[in-house]
Amino acid sequence: MSELHKFLFDGLPVRGAIVRLTDAWTEILSRRAAHQPPLDPAATVSTATAAAQAHRMGDGSWPDPVVELLGEMTAAAALMQANIKFNGALILQIFGDGPVKVAVAEAQHDMSLRATAKVVGEVPLQAGLPQLVNVSNKGRCAITLDPKDRFPGQQPYQGVVPLHGDRREKLGRLSEVLEHYMLQSEQLDTTLVLAADGKVAAGLLIQRLPLEGAANLTEQERSQANEDQIGVNEDYKRIAILAASLTREELLGLDIDTVLRRLFWEEKVLRFEPQTPRFACTCSRERVAGMIRGLGRDEADSILLERGEIEVGCDFCGQQYRFDAVDTARLFTSPGDQPPVTSAVQ
Ligand SMILES: [Zn+2]
Repeated sequence: MSELHKFLFDGLPVRGAIVRLTDAWTEILSRRAAHQPPLDPAATVSTATAAAQAHRMGDGSWPDPVVELLGEMTAAAALMQANIKFNGALILQIFGDGPVKVAVAEAQHDMSLRATAKVVGEVPLQAGLPQLVNVSNKGRCAITLDPKDRFPGQQPYQGVVPLHGDRREKLGRLSEVLEHYMLQSEQLDTTLVLAADGKVAAGLLIQRLPLEGAANLTEQERSQANEDQIGVNEDYKRIAILAASLTREELLGLDIDTVLRRLFWEEKVLRFEPQTPRFACTCSRERVAGMIRGLGRDEADSILLERGEIEVGCDFCGQQYRFDAVDTARLFTSPGDQPPVTSAVQ
């Protein structure tokens, strides 16, 4: 079963979270393998007819390096969602300039997760982050917070970071990219360890808590706060070094209790009630209808003319949505102006 645990270090301004995705992660992979055609992994919106596509379905599995990247992204999205008080979706996206064009991992407030990637062309064996998404150093990583109940006109918050460091050196790991993001956007020192394979996606996050109200202090208080800060940093550094010593094999192979005990046996760790991440997709016929409306009537009609129906497959869960000529005509009719339902339509 997939698990996420949050914890604090007693008396120290350091917090953490650890996630181990098993069933939630393998569900994402198996849906991908079952629903995607092997020859055309690039298709995000499929307008092929069901008949034409049926014989090509199955074994659309991602290559191993893509599985690793997407697993790390999914674990990271769960950790980042757990780390903020936010009712909505946390969406982690990488826009790549290599064979992985887009990779997306989403974590909802209730820890339902989904993820997908669009791959075009050959993925080199053992490709790392630079070879997958940052070949010419133009890859970007976006973190979006999309509130659940957005009021009209409200835009989701989005932060974007490059996949290179301050001296434009390509970053080798997703964890480095996200640590950089946290430092830039939240001024929080963060240590992340991520790992994934075809069975487990896991991660550990350690973060230094901000000192509260530091800006409002008098000179004397501020110098005291600075001294405290030194101690605080030392505590954080010690714990961060312990966290960073966690190996990929340990993170993937050991249960959460064992990992925390091995790393922090000398620290007093206070643990919260664990959460149970699971796979769930937020797609719906209504959303697909909205997308088709977005194409415009002319575009929709030309697809209908060519294909006989509009078929849209969800890239996250594999669900197929079909709209025939009658369904489509109704989409472009305002609700107050519905045509009479003919006997042919259910
Ligand atoms: Zn879906």
